[in-house]
Amino acid sequence: MDYRAVETAEEYVARLETGADWRTEIEALAAAVDADAAWFTALGAVQDAELWFYDQDELAYAPIEFDEPLEVASCVGNVSWLDDERFAHTHAVLSRPDGETVAGHLNEATVFAGEVYMRVFENSLERAHDETTDLDLWPL
Ligand code: ZN
Repeated sequence: MDYRAVETAEEYVARLETGADWRTEIEALAAAVDADAAWFTALGAVQDAELWFYDQDELAYAPIEFDEPLEVASCVGNVSWLDDERFAHTHAVLSRPDGETVAGHLNEATVFAGEVYMRVFENSLERAHDETTDLDLWPL
């Protein structure tokens, strides 16, 4: 395990725009407040979603698409730099009318309504390729 201390710089709440992309909106918030690193939680509803599942044997993501309205029962993630762009690593638990859930790494989703709380850190975090997992992780 690697770790480092972070200090909170500012905290924000935001309402996501209907029809926009969920993750892009969070990255736009991070850019608007000049965040070099942040942690966030969010909730709301989406009109569709594309989740990714990382196959630990194949070391590759497989997309799962949902073309249906879903509640964002819980969404958590962080923002850091990846290839000179702010990347919102976003995971979500999405629910259907009967309460059944699907969950995973959220790549994209069309916002119906969304509320975000973001804690911005004084520090900067940048992802780098990790040989073992073939993922872009934090070299802390
Ligand atoms: Zn993920």
